Order: sequence, then C-alpha cells, then structure tokens
Amino acid sequence: MDVKSIYMKANALLEGHFKLSSGNHSRYYLQSAKVLEDPKTAKQLADALAVQISESGLKIDTVCAPALGGLIAGFALATALDKRSIFAERVNGEMQIRRGFEIKSGERVLVCEDIITTGGSALEAAHAIEALGGEVVAFAALANRGFCKRNGSALDRKENCSLPENKPLFALADFDFEMYAPDNCPLCKDGSQAIKPGSRGN
Ligand code: ZN
Repeated sequence: MDVKSIYMKANALLEGHFKLSSGNHSRYYLQSAKVLEDPKTAKQLADALAVQISESGLKIDTVCAPALGGLIAGFALATALDKRSIFAERVNGEMQIRRGFEIKSGERVLVCEDIITTGGSALEAAHAIEALGGEVVAFAALANRGFCKRNGSALDRKENCSLPENKPLFALADFDFEMYAPDNCPLCKDGSQAIKPGSRGN
C-alpha cells in the first residue's frame, strides 16, 4: 500500500514551516484528518493495519486512542479488528480514561494514534490504561515519523522515541522527514515563522 501517495492525493502532506506538537520544527506536516475525511480511505488504511496486527499473532481485547488525533484511526482499526474502541483524553494536561470506560484487570489494550512522532501522547495514554489495571501490549498508527521503530521496518529507533522498546509498533509506512530544534531550525534562520498546524485553517 502506497501510504505516501494516499496522503499526497488527499492534500494531507503539507509543505511549509511547521511547529509540531513535540515543539520541534519541520518543513512537512502530516494532516491525517484530511485523509480520514474519506471513510472509504480510512477503512482501507485501517484494514491494512489490522492485517499486520492479526498476522503478528498478537491477541488484543481493546483499541484505545489518545484524543483528538487518534480517534478516527482508533475507531476504524477497532472496527477492522472487531474489538472494543475506547479513547483517552487530556484533562488539565493529564491523559485520562473517562466517559465511563472501564478496563478490566489484565485487559490487553493496543494504543492507536493517527501518526506516531515521538510517541509522547500514546505513552501517556498507555500509562492511564495501566493505572486502571490494563495491560498495554502494542502501539499502532497509520504512519510513523521515523523516530520509533516500526514493526518490520529497516529503520532503527532514534533517541527521542518515547515508546517502550519491548512493545511492537505497527504502522503502514515511515515518513522519515527531518525535524529541527527551534534554536537550530534552518527555516527560522531564513526568517520565516513556524505555524502551528490547525491554527490557520491547516
Ligand atoms: Zn523553524
């Protein structure tokens, strides 16, 4: 599956000067919402991801998505796997499981994002699940920014990946673009201002 052309066709691979949620700057931004606005494409991507997960033999009970970014991908993946779909959300900066969602002791949960960059939000969701007695067995995303090691990819894990090393990350593709610390960003040095995606209609 050519995930990059799916993103490009949907105008979901943006070029410019972006401030990512990690605080780093980048020339590119992936706007998964633009890909997922077409339910057929969302289903196609989630089905392919579900095949990877099923073929690995990993058993899961539940898919949990960190809101807001992971919601649609998580729901579509849970549908494809025929598993329960729940989400975690940030309340006063802290990722929590709310809405009456219950997690049984030892319940096997996969945390699903749209994109894994360093995996910070996914890890926070994992901690919230574990605090309720669930067992986080894997992570998944439609695409991986290339910092964490995707199951089956030749690219190695980088230092700033925050996901646990002993749990698999399933994703359909690596989008390995360069990111810059704000004080060492060539785009800033050229005088442009980084835009926070979503803040100006993108
Ligand atoms: Zn910059």
